Amino acid sequence: MALPAPYQQLVQAFDALPGVGPRAAARLARYVIDDPQGDALAAAITRARAELVLCQHCYRYALTDTCDICAAAHGQQPLFVVAGVEDSERLTGQGMSNQFLLHALLSPVAGIGPAQLHLPQLRARVVNEAISDLKLVLPAGVEAEATAQFIMDMLADVDVSISRQEVNDGAP
Ligand SMILES: [Zn+2]
Repeated sequence: MALPAPYQQLVQAFDALPGVGPRAAARLARYVIDDPQGDALAAAITRARAELVLCQHCYRYALTDTCDICAAAHGQQPLFVVAGVEDSERLTGQGMSNQFLLHALLSPVAGIGPAQLHLPQLRARVVNEAISDLKLVLPAGVEAEATAQFIMDMLADVDVSISRQEVNDGAP
């Protein structure tokens, strides 16, 4: 006798998440169903999906098309290119708030190309804001290497100085 469809669908939804296997999916599903916090979690997911958009300048999660940081930092130098939200938060905390978030790295295997990283928009921003100093703060690894190379090739005809540092280096 199979378990009811709502349970199976919840387990399948967790199982489909990256890095979550079937056992963890079942454990998470039971937590969401049984724990008093389950309602708050469901509400938080619904609210985040309904209200969050990507800022059309830096691609941070935001409530409007132009986030508060970009509204204040337009045209500042340098522009930091970062891959992940956590890296972005850390740099912002260090006063390096003028950023462009990729949310991922180029990965042909995973089907992630330049459009998914909004790289055409990065080029447009560098040109439109006359960015002269671009700092790529990316993790180590093949995908980061390919991403950095793509950005450098993409901007080869633009008058911008591009430097690269690994994300764990700390402050630039
Ligand atoms: Zn922004």
